[in-house]
Amino acid sequence: MSTHNGSSSTSTILQTALWNAKQAAQRLGLNENVVHQLTEPTERIQTRVHPLLPDGRMLHVQVFVVRHNDVLGPAKGGIRMTPSVSLDEVTGLAMEMTWKTSLIGVPFGGGKAGICCDPTQLNPIEKEILMRSFTRGVRRHIGPEIYVPAPDMGTNEGDMGHIRDCISYSAGMSITMGCYVTGKPVVLGGIVGRREATGNGVAATVAAACERLNRRISDLRVAVQGFGNVGSVAAMAMAERGARVVAVSDVAGGTYCKDGLDVARLVEYVRQTGGVAGFAGGQDVPRDNVLETDCDVLIPAAAGSVVTEQNAGRIRAAIIAEGANAPLTPPADEILNQRGVFIIPDILCNAGGVFVSYLEYTQETQRDQMTRDEVQRRLFDRMQTTFADVYDRAQRQHETMRHAAMDIAVSRVVDGIMARGLLP
Ligand code: NAD
Repeated sequence: MSTHNGSSSTSTILQTALWNAKQAAQRLGLNENVVHQLTEPTERIQTRVHPLLPDGRMLHVQVFVVRHNDVLGPAKGGIRMTPSVSLDEVTGLAMEMTWKTSLIGVPFGGGKAGICCDPTQLNPIEKEILMRSFTRGVRRHIGPEIYVPAPDMGTNEGDMGHIRDCISYSAGMSITMGCYVTGKPVVLGGIVGRREATGNGVAATVAAACERLNRRISDLRVAVQGFGNVGSVAAMAMAERGARVVAVSDVAGGTYCKDGLDVARLVEYVRQTGGVAGFAGGQDVPRDNVLETDCDVLIPAAAGSVVTEQNAGRIRAAIIAEGANAPLTPPADEILNQRGVFIIPDILCNAGGVFVSYLEYTQETQRDQMTRDEVQRRLFDRMQTTFADVYDRAQRQHETMRHAAMDIAVSRVVDGIMARGLLP
């Protein structure tokens, strides 16, 4: 077996994505020309926007849009707003989206956008101005047949509403012709259940894993890193299924309770105070200890590359459900596999969001309205069948869940390339 060259501390999301793709290409015996098409992004846009704020300040913000691959359909992927987001990070995340949309079986390719700014330093009006400025700045690169954004770290439903309004308003129309953005408020054509879809999907894959591994959900102790959209909903869904959520962290701290945190109360506490630290139903612990909690299931649901070869040996969970994108570096992945940890890879585990985004896309295109029950049922069915496909392949081929998921996803994109034909 080949080994990863980069040291974990320098492994970025792009390096991880490239490593995973090249390993899959090797396993599948793909030729060099196809590997180029799979690994080189179709388009990488880097530009700046200069929104003028009400107090007279002008921001100068670097923004990125990457379409990694659109063989199977328009590029799909969220907008990340963090102070450190880079073109390479967005490229790696866009590549991951190519495999995720392929694996979960929706007619999209992979894309991602980045806005280099700290959202916590903006008030709601300032953030709306920045989102509108971003939309105008990259307008040519957004569209139902080009790239369809959605929320990611640092952006939310309200931001998607501003993007949609900016595009329809500029065209002098009340609505857009087709779906330009998903994860919008329901009142603007969003879909019920989209906000919870990723976290609910994460919990559905943990439940599917428990069935295969003969573990009862009610016996599970769960630790969750990150208590935003994905982490808080996944924690809630695990608690509702009977698991004990024993530890939770966010960027500013962590909280722990051996007998299980009251997740609903914690959600309310975070809504009021902005963070998990100081929660009366738990005991404060240092943020990074949460990863190493004595538990059965670890759900990393914050940033990428948080489990490295430095801390992989201290992870105590038997199951890792990758709610975040690329939370494990390749060396950490190798260490954990050798220790027999069951890893549900990101392109499977957190694909519920993009699946429900696809439902939103079809709903808007057809001016249809789906009910919450219908969305939940279709999400749950798709997560179950995709989990089964990946698990069965992993068993058959004696490979890890990550390898099986990548092999299925990459093969479908290759089939798409061949079906399109090789001439322009
Ligand atoms: P979010 O901004 O809503 O929440 C992020 C959370 O992580 C916050 O609670 C933040 O405080 C916390 N955090 C940040 N750094 C941390 C650290 N070092 N330690 C502990 N906590 C930390 O973002 P989100 O939408 O929940 O996304 C989380 C992850 O899931 C990202 O990797 C994202 O790419 C991935 N993801 C999100 C979706 C989606 O639908 N939102 C879909 C697929 C994948």
